[in-house]
Amino acid sequence: MLSVDEALERLLAGGLGMTEAETVLLTDAVGRVPAVRRLVAAHDVPPFANSAMDGFAMLSADGDAPRRMLGESRAGGPGAPRVERGTAVRIMTGAPLPPGADAVVPLEKAREEENTVLVEAAPALGAHVRAAGHDVPAGTSVVLADAPLSAASIGLLAALGRDSIEVHRRPRVAILSTGDELRPAGATLGAGQIHDANGPALAAAVSESGAEPILLDAAPDDPTVIEERIRDGARGADLLIVSGGVSVGRHDLVRTVIERLGSLEFWRIAVQPGKPLAFGYIGERPVVGLPGNPVSALVTFELFVRPMIRRMMGLSGDGRTRVRARVDEALGKDVARRAYLRVSAAAEGDGYRAVSAGGQASSQLLTLASANALLVVPEGLASTEAGGTYEAILLGPVA
Ligand code: AMP
Ligand code: MG
Repeated sequence: MLSVDEALERLLAGGLGMTEAETVLLTDAVGRVPAVRRLVAAHDVPPFANSAMDGFAMLSADGDAPRRMLGESRAGGPGAPRVERGTAVRIMTGAPLPPGADAVVPLEKAREEENTVLVEAAPALGAHVRAAGHDVPAGTSVVLADAPLSAASIGLLAALGRDSIEVHRRPRVAILSTGDELRPAGATLGAGQIHDANGPALAAAVSESGAEPILLDAAPDDPTVIEERIRDGARGADLLIVSGGVSVGRHDLVRTVIERLGSLEFWRIAVQPGKPLAFGYIGERPVVGLPGNPVSALVTFELFVRPMIRRMMGLSGDGRTRVRARVDEALGKDVARRAYLRVSAAAEGDGYRAVSAGGQASSQLLTLASANALLVVPEGLASTEAGGTYEAILLGPVA
């Protein structure tokens, strides 16, 4: 059996191309991955010195002496008169600092009487003044994080004067469910039939990882139909995910079909849930065959496909937060495999505590839906140790 780490290494090593860059408007850029990570600030942000408060702009050298009022400087307004010794200008937050002024006294620390401004105390040089470039000086090399663009990054790009940004095209990921028993969501079930859970689940997981899902119609266990669907999927997509039909049952035809269309390796991975995984190429297109049980399909997607998709978009890792979590129960597992147990993790004291989300069979999707973390229990252990601490991969918000 391959270890999880070896399998991931092989998947990522296998010539995964990055999608090309495309230019999108900032208004469409949230969640997209910047294709250019470093840009140089062409001008100061803010472009001019301005006031951080509503108040009065003046000269610090005048100390606490009364000042004669000259006029007003508004945000977006025309320039204000020069402030000389013994004078002041009424100023609003964000308004340009009048020439000559070097301090602002906030409204609440000053009083206006007739045409005179009286201050409670002498202002310090530079008080409540935002210098030009105090946010980003011109020429700064701004580095965008190895992450999808956030609202703050988009705001920063706008402040720097950009209206668009080059991002990696979202990889198109085709998803094919296979199995004679499958009926689409919403359909009436006949004898022996179940709803296709993996199609919608994997499409959602693809979207969540930042790519564009293409959900193909599920295929029965019929090599001709599977071949047709896989051909279609491979044509329009950067990556193809097939679920079901990859193990060693009599009707597990996916492997045979992919082998006929391209190349395929079949791995047994020391992972629970998940074990069988197929990886290959049809032409240039990578294909991953995931196990059919819904929890196995989603967990192997999480461990293997999500990092592949992120790599194709120019991101590294899986983008998940890992914490250490204490467990107070002995949760059984296969000693030979690394287990990813469905748990509810919650903050407790300085750390986290994890409680089993319930049944851990690979067919029990309910417990994955109610879990917010996967508890990683290493190979070599037959169960968790009550009171032991393990790594937990956070999949959702933690209470
Ligand atoms: P397989 O990998 O095809 O042997 O399927 C293993 C188990 O997963 C069987 O119980 C299948 O019915 C189930 N299964 C396979 N594909 C899906 C799917 N798309 N949705 C829900 N269950 C599935
Ligand atoms: Mg099947």
